[in-house]
Amino acid sequence: MAKYLLSIDQGTTSSRAILFTTQGERYASAQEEFPQYFPQDGWVEHNPNELWQSVLSTCQKVLDENQLSASDILGIGITNQRETTLVWDKNTGDVIYNAIVWQDRRTAFFCDSIDCQDIKNSIMDKTGLILDAYFSATKINWLLDNVPGAREKADAGQLLFGTVDTFLLWQLTAGKSHKTDATNASRTMLFNIHQQCWDDELLALFSIPKSMLPDVMDCAAEFGVTQSSLFNGEIPILAMAGDQQAALFGQACFTEGMAKCTYGTGAFLMLNTGNKALKSTNRLLTTIAYRLNGDVTYAIEGSIFMAGATIQWLRDQLKIIDKASDSEKIAENTVVEHGVFLVPAFTGLGAPYWDPNARAVISGLSRDSGRNEIISAALQSVAFQSKDLQNAMAKDGLALSFLKVDGGMAENNWLLNFISDMLSITVERPDIVETTALGVAYLTGLQAGVFSSVDQLSTLWRCEKSFTPQISEQKKNRLYAQWQDAVSKVQS
Ligand code: ADP
Repeated sequence: MAKYLLSIDQGTTSSRAILFTTQGERYASAQEEFPQYFPQDGWVEHNPNELWQSVLSTCQKVLDENQLSASDILGIGITNQRETTLVWDKNTGDVIYNAIVWQDRRTAFFCDSIDCQDIKNSIMDKTGLILDAYFSATKINWLLDNVPGAREKADAGQLLFGTVDTFLLWQLTAGKSHKTDATNASRTMLFNIHQQCWDDELLALFSIPKSMLPDVMDCAAEFGVTQSSLFNGEIPILAMAGDQQAALFGQACFTEGMAKCTYGTGAFLMLNTGNKALKSTNRLLTTIAYRLNGDVTYAIEGSIFMAGATIQWLRDQLKIIDKASDSEKIAENTVVEHGVFLVPAFTGLGAPYWDPNARAVISGLSRDSGRNEIISAALQSVAFQSKDLQNAMAKDGLALSFLKVDGGMAENNWLLNFISDMLSITVERPDIVETTALGVAYLTGLQAGVFSSVDQLSTLWRCEKSFTPQISEQKKNRLYAQWQDAVSKVQS
């Protein structure tokens, strides 16, 4: 009987369960969306039970639809939206509040109140992160301060914290396992990425008792086994990685200098820096790419808040396209130098600007400009923002020599050509674009002994289409200078 690897891909808007063969090929999948809650301006929450049920039902569905049982599955790997924060009662398993999602800005004020450069430097030195509401630490602090009785229970050792990976593991194992992996830990702003341990000073700074925190494991490890009632038998959970790190792994970026960018709602560019945790002086993040057998591989990361979300805005707010994919044909039939620039700072600007107060503009409009130029400018903004990250990396002494891409927007050939033009490098799209799920399947397979090494995994990666620069140097420089000019207009 064939055996399969089951990846749980728990994202911001939906949960997916994807089966892979032991040759690393995609076999079947199930997907379910779940509701988003916006109780106040800038707040974003998920209902933990809805989140868990969406994971459970997609896993059950993919097994049922393919007439598979627990014994056909070699192992489960979990990859997840990062930083999203949950706290629950150790004894009853009851969550004390909704999950506070990574996008949630409710703790921005608290971050602003820590107006001390020494503390910010210390956070950067230890965690590789910029002090920001994005990460879990201030979200935990908010929960303990704002949920009645939470602080006392936490101090008495009765509460547990987890990012989504840890919460799902707890549910899958019926409360037997309280663990995370090094990649997810590295996004909490509590984990010392050099010493590989929770940091006492940061725990004190954010008033978080250490007893709440999960054990930190390698990305491929024995995380526990599922309670048998869920899938009619036990399945071992063998891998975990945050979504962007899993995508890096699924893109087989195993050596120093290899990079991927995932173009979904936002865009996340990650460059493997090997066993060195390089410190950016250009506002990029240092993070753990993966940890295997105790060996840590690091990465530099740049996050763009609005990529595909800008195309959604064209569709849902401006209503000038019916579906995201329409943008490709329109851009193809529009001159590249139309003079219109869209800076999509709808929720501020991410790396390398980190300007939460900036707001979006469309600049350079003339009497000839219309719908097509705005749509083209929206796609171009994704490439210009990628170039901003490439430049920040270059200033840190890191060269991008080529880029592997994935995510929903990577279906747009025009966009990938334009990214290649702006970055002056080859852009490659793999044949399996669900690289997040694939990455954690690779990790699961390593732990299960299906794959012997990352070298073997490298041989499985296949390019579906590659894009090479076509634009002239002058035209590229002209366009980018105009983009920089447009960005300078929105910065606060
Ligand atoms: P996420 O995982 O962040 O939810 P996906 O990777 O599924 O996102 O990508 C969806 C995003 O990609 C949407 O924001 C959508 O607007 C955009 N998108 C999808 N297809 C295209 C396309 N052909 N051209 C441009 N944008 C696209």
